[in-house]
Amino acid sequence: MKRIYIVLASLVALAAGCNNNKNGTTPDITPDKPSEEKLSDIAYQLNVYSFADSDGDGWGDIKGITQHLDYLDALGATALWLSPVQTSASYHGYDVLNYSEINPKLGTESDFKELIDKAREKDIDIYMDYVLNHSGRGEWFQSAVSSESSPYRSFYVLSDNPTADVAAGKVDNFGGAKTPGMGTWHVAAGGDLGYKGRLHFKVDMNAKTVTVTQTTAAAQSPNTSAPACWLWYGSIGKHTGMYTTGSNIYEITLDIDTDWGFLVCTSTTWASGTKWGGNGGSVTFGQPFKLNNSTAADITFGGSSTWYFASFDQSMPDLNYGPYANASQSEAFKALAQSADKWINMGVNGLRLDAVLWIYQNQAAANASFLKQWYDRCNSTYKARGGEGNLYMVGEAFEETGKIASYYRGLPSLFNFSYWWTLKDRINRGKGNDFAKTVLGFRAQYKSFRSDFIDAIKLSNHDEDRAGNDLGRDQSKMKLAGAVLLTSPGKPFIYQGEELGYWGTKSGGDEYVRAPIKWTRSGSVPSKGLNGKVDNAMLSADISVEAQDAAEGSVLSVYRSFGKARNAYKALAKGEMEEVSIANSAVALWTMSYDGQTVLVAHNFSSTMASISLSQYKLDNKLVSNGTVNANGSSLYLGAYSSAVFLQ
Ligand code: MG
Repeated sequence: MKRIYIVLASLVALAAGCNNNKNGTTPDITPDKPSEEKLSDIAYQLNVYSFADSDGDGWGDIKGITQHLDYLDALGATALWLSPVQTSASYHGYDVLNYSEINPKLGTESDFKELIDKAREKDIDIYMDYVLNHSGRGEWFQSAVSSESSPYRSFYVLSDNPTADVAAGKVDNFGGAKTPGMGTWHVAAGGDLGYKGRLHFKVDMNAKTVTVTQTTAAAQSPNTSAPACWLWYGSIGKHTGMYTTGSNIYEITLDIDTDWGFLVCTSTTWASGTKWGGNGGSVTFGQPFKLNNSTAADITFGGSSTWYFASFDQSMPDLNYGPYANASQSEAFKALAQSADKWINMGVNGLRLDAVLWIYQNQAAANASFLKQWYDRCNSTYKARGGEGNLYMVGEAFEETGKIASYYRGLPSLFNFSYWWTLKDRINRGKGNDFAKTVLGFRAQYKSFRSDFIDAIKLSNHDEDRAGNDLGRDQSKMKLAGAVLLTSPGKPFIYQGEELGYWGTKSGGDEYVRAPIKWTRSGSVPSKGLNGKVDNAMLSADISVEAQDAAEGSVLSVYRSFGKARNAYKALAKGEMEEVSIANSAVALWTMSYDGQTVLVAHNFSSTMASISLSQYKLDNKLVSNGTVNANGSSLYLGAYSSAVFLQ
């Protein structure tokens, strides 16, 4: 794939960007593709709602991205992963209401098309975030839960009796599991939870059941003579004493009006006594309903209360693709694929799939089978469009490498979370010499499932505490982490703000790890989408793009210089990693080789100067570096958290 790329002033400029180049040599290396191409595949993850605001309404938007393509190009980006751009109720977009419509807060369909086209002029691909595990509660969902004859009825994981249906293996979404790995059942909006009218209640505490019957018999007054059993229903505090009619048998006929159902209690005081409720499902008139006092969930009425399953919160009902082996035949799959066709045909060149662990509830074989069907379907659309090569598709399986490697049976690419978890641990411990071996171990696991795997390496993302935070807000460590990312094998993803050294944690809300780009020293940032939750102390003048543009040795300058090097040298861009073993425990050392070219990569993970002897390697052709680097004969001195790449 051709990547148009302007290396501004050849490698002299590249070398000039390297700080503290104390060895005095001037690199005189001709890049493999001196002026025309980006050789690498650097992706940039951006939150559309907080990246750049073109119209000043406080929301980042699609036009804002188009206006900043030069910035992304200068980072060496060859692809942008956009947070979901379809209509949604939330700011983050992961509760999609209509998969075929652009969220008007973010722009229009023509804005999106313009972004695709303008990005292509810089050879930057657009990747859409595609949410397959669940949708929002849009028209599909409202229709599905309001009528058994809805054409969308099969799209969701619905049950009138979840406990029984799961036990009977009827819930395809669980992929054979009896309990979900994550998530819970909720009563569907629009369902009839409550009841208004006359009912007879009979509680049998011997069998621990309640039987509710519709009746025309006369209603009774509450038993106020020391009852042992109470009904709770309706408005807060509404309770009625029942009559003892046998040993541990209690009955009453009542006119009730409740919008949530009822509970059976042994006290008139909510906080004392025992509350007996249900365990999912609702009563069927005339049939005993099993009482449960461990969860005491509300007991709802009749067959009209439908439950739905949601892996995440109740605003995001799980989609249902039926038995996994035939998922592509399900109506939900076909509808989602039709939407994906629209965007792929418009020019989208990749999809990032959200939460793939949970499509079939953490069942690896089921999920991989589903994902292969989804990939093949979308790739056939891409091929029919005339797309070059294959469609890119990366899955978010938020787990350690060993637990997700088999997902490569279904997808060409997966995010490598273990990569970052390992890297931050090693940087914070000042221990670099097992890093290459560990990365190679990840790759070996992937390779056993797919020979042409694309290892999507990353630091933090929008669901994790910021890399900068994990590195103690230490700029030297942040620069090192960026340099390591951009010299490792695989496909690096840079997360919005990482290149500026952002920090932030999820403790005050996810918004704090999704902060806007501060473009100028004094300008405002789009914060409406983030409900105003921005850390203004972090978003200081000095962290802005404007300030870092002007500052030699800024975090941004390191990302740019290593991005340029990765795009200019095929060994860095596409190379195979080989560990170089040395005694110094602080230094991570490896080679990258591709098509006859080899580079030596060296990083000092510690806070003190490292001195190593490298008689078998050439140290006179330094391609890019960060920090203090001094090569003298076969001796290499690397200052604290410093990095260098040498052509062999
Ligand atoms: Mg805007």
